[in-house]
Amino acid sequence: MLIRILGAAAGGGFPQWNCSCRNCADVRAGKPGLRARTQCSLAVSANGSDWVLLNTAPDLRQQINETPELGARADGGLRNSPIKAAVLTGGDVDFIAGLLNLRELQPFSVYGSARVLATLKENSVFNVLDAKVVERRELPLGSAIAIEGAGRDTGLVIEAFAVPGKIALYLESGAAGDNYGSRDGDAIGLKVSAPATGKSFFYVPGCAVVDEELAGRLRGARLVFFDGTLYTDDEMIRQGLMQKTGQRMGHISISGPEGSIAAFEPLGVERKIYVHINNSNPVLDETSPERRATEAAGWEVGLDGMEIRL
Ligand SMILES: [Zn+2]
Repeated sequence: MLIRILGAAAGGGFPQWNCSCRNCADVRAGKPGLRARTQCSLAVSANGSDWVLLNTAPDLRQQINETPELGARADGGLRNSPIKAAVLTGGDVDFIAGLLNLRELQPFSVYGSARVLATLKENSVFNVLDAKVVERRELPLGSAIAIEGAGRDTGLVIEAFAVPGKIALYLESGAAGDNYGSRDGDAIGLKVSAPATGKSFFYVPGCAVVDEELAGRLRGARLVFFDGTLYTDDEMIRQGLMQKTGQRMGHISISGPEGSIAAFEPLGVERKIYVHINNSNPVLDETSPERRATEAAGWEVGLDGMEIRL
């Protein structure tokens, strides 16, 4: 199995277009130790020729152009694409907007929970993906399904499972007590397996807390890509960027007794990589003490273009 990080940043990317926080200003100025990142997406292939996207960021066109394996083949006919499917883990703009880059009548499949598929249906702009060409398939929670697209079995099997989290910001309704209208399955994680080799990994880009159930799933995993949005719960408030904590946004922090470093400590996960990293996060600065602490705890900080073979 081949895995490429197409984008490792959270919504807004790094730098974010309208942000002049220290990280964004420093990366724009070319300060050593900081590298730009596009928004959160992975590409996976079991056979090296058919690819499945895990989330489709608004930056997808750029990501495809920077990843030769995902481009049209010179010997594949006038119109062709190795991208056979896109699997969505939520309705957030940074997870679904990239679908709009995939118009032009190219067959592939879109997988999402019933709630995410309903969001696509309600927003008519997604009809640029003609349903007769681009199949929309429901991703059930808690059962593994073979991922197919454009008449191909990709050789990948994906199990989606609900994780503690929150509905996309623009879909919020109700009050805090109702978790802003969130329902089971608005935040999901994926277990991606290649039955031919028996290898598997987890992708959990948005998660509010590592509860018993999630801990049980991840225990002893070979590889986990995990929500690295914020280093501390109140960092966006302290930096004057936004009056919201990470918890309010449905994201666990990296640090602290309730954070993901602590939560993963007893799980024995072989390789742990943060993705969905917000531009305010000090781990983006390779010279920061927070980055050193994160790496000392056995975590890697995801970077666009990173490739992993399982
Ligand atoms: Zn910023």
